[in-house]
Amino acid sequence: MRAGPAMDRLETMQNTAEKSSAPAPPLTVLGEEERMFQDTVRRFARERIAPYAREMDTAAVFRKDLLREMFELGLMGIEIPEEYGGQGGNFFQAVLAVETLAAVDPSAAVIVDVQNTIANNVIIRWGNDDQKGRYLPKLASDVVASFALSEAGSGSDAFALATRAIRRGEDYYLTGRKLWITNAAEAGLFLLFANANPEAGHRGITCFLVEREFPGFQVGRKEDKLGIRASSTCELILDDCRVPVNNVLGEIGKGYKIAIETLNEGRIAIGAQMTGLAQGALDHAIAYAKQRQQFGKTIAEFQGVQFELAQMATEVEAARLLVYNAARLRDSGLAFVTEAAMAKYFASQVAEDTASRAVEIFGGVGFTKDYPVEKLYRDAKIGRIYEGTSNMQKLTIAKQILG
Ligand SMILES: Cc1cc2nc3c(=O)[nH]c(=O)nc-3n(C[C@H](O)[C@H](O)[C@H](O)COP(=O)(O)OP(=O)(O)OC[C@H]3O[C@@H](n4cnc5c(N)ncnc54)[C@H](O)[C@@H]3O)c2cc1C
Repeated sequence: MRAGPAMDRLETMQNTAEKSSAPAPPLTVLGEEERMFQDTVRRFARERIAPYAREMDTAAVFRKDLLREMFELGLMGIEIPEEYGGQGGNFFQAVLAVETLAAVDPSAAVIVDVQNTIANNVIIRWGNDDQKGRYLPKLASDVVASFALSEAGSGSDAFALATRAIRRGEDYYLTGRKLWITNAAEAGLFLLFANANPEAGHRGITCFLVEREFPGFQVGRKEDKLGIRASSTCELILDDCRVPVNNVLGEIGKGYKIAIETLNEGRIAIGAQMTGLAQGALDHAIAYAKQRQQFGKTIAEFQGVQFELAQMATEVEAARLLVYNAARLRDSGLAFVTEAAMAKYFASQVAEDTASRAVEIFGGVGFTKDYPVEKLYRDAKIGRIYEGTSNMQKLTIAKQILG
């Protein structure tokens, strides 16, 4: 059910469309600006990231020079308003950037994803003028950010978090540990959730802007992962970490709302990451099938291989439609939460299936590190886990359809 302001906006849009009698544009047709933006990102991904994707995966480190280039290209501040040094773009553009990067390297994609669709988004939406003025110019130019919600004991049940915040004078003191924090090795700023009033349960959860240099803050162990290895994932240790009161984002007790609403949006971009990954795997499979010869012909001439490719292409297209629709709903101010959950759930399934089939089309070499599909297959697995597991997406969808 759509209600309230979103419904009003929908009616206005429908009335406008009826009056102009112009059909609504197809979901995958990009505007001029969107197409130019996508071309720029694609060129950067192919020319600058692709040559290093394997090396960064093996080393499990994202190159600093590429990170700097992503800032210079404006990829780390897509939605940040121009007055703060950002690109003044929209959420759909961020989704396009994540999708396009993921076709080449899903690690690069998630760095851009967390910065834009999570961290920047939170500060743009919930930050006060002072916080926007202090942090947005840095996030647009050279500071990487992380979103720190999960802990060892609270993943899907995120709001059971144990990190505590106690006020003493003009500061809060945070104690606890965060786990699985993307971008943490590179980040200078952490949007970190702690409970400032445990008696109030989840209504005590509060979002703090924690700078890496704050006393009592430390980035701990980095995980050694199956996939997206060049994207850092670390533990955070807070030992009476001092955070000034004016670094409370939103209000005390608003962290629950901030986290839920941010993750609802963020998962559209994870759907985009998985769609881009699947497209990358499909592109590699098509190119290989057209040149690999067996039985005196290319394997692309065998109907069995053609049917595999046809199914992969259809599933990638379906995932893209779900992702684009959810992103365009979000940018239009319409209800999108169910569509976002569907997009992430489906696209992560498609990514895993498509990458797996691509490995098979490559045959034996697909199973080696000499070809890129092996890496994409490993990278795909995370889609069904982070920003809400597939089961959590299905819970959201079921809640909606059951009323
Ligand atoms: C590479 C990586 C990067 C990450 N980045 C971040 C980050 O930047 N910031 C951050 O805060 N977190 C991050 N996370 C954490 C991530 O969001 C959690 O791992 C995820 O939400 C799952 O939580 P969990 O690992 O505790 O699994 P659990 O919650 O323990 O789930 C285990 C299994 O039980 C199932 N399950 C749990 N509850 C239910 C239920 N009610 N109904 C049905 N099934 C259920 C799950 O679907 C899953 O299959 C990251 C994780 C990884 C691996």
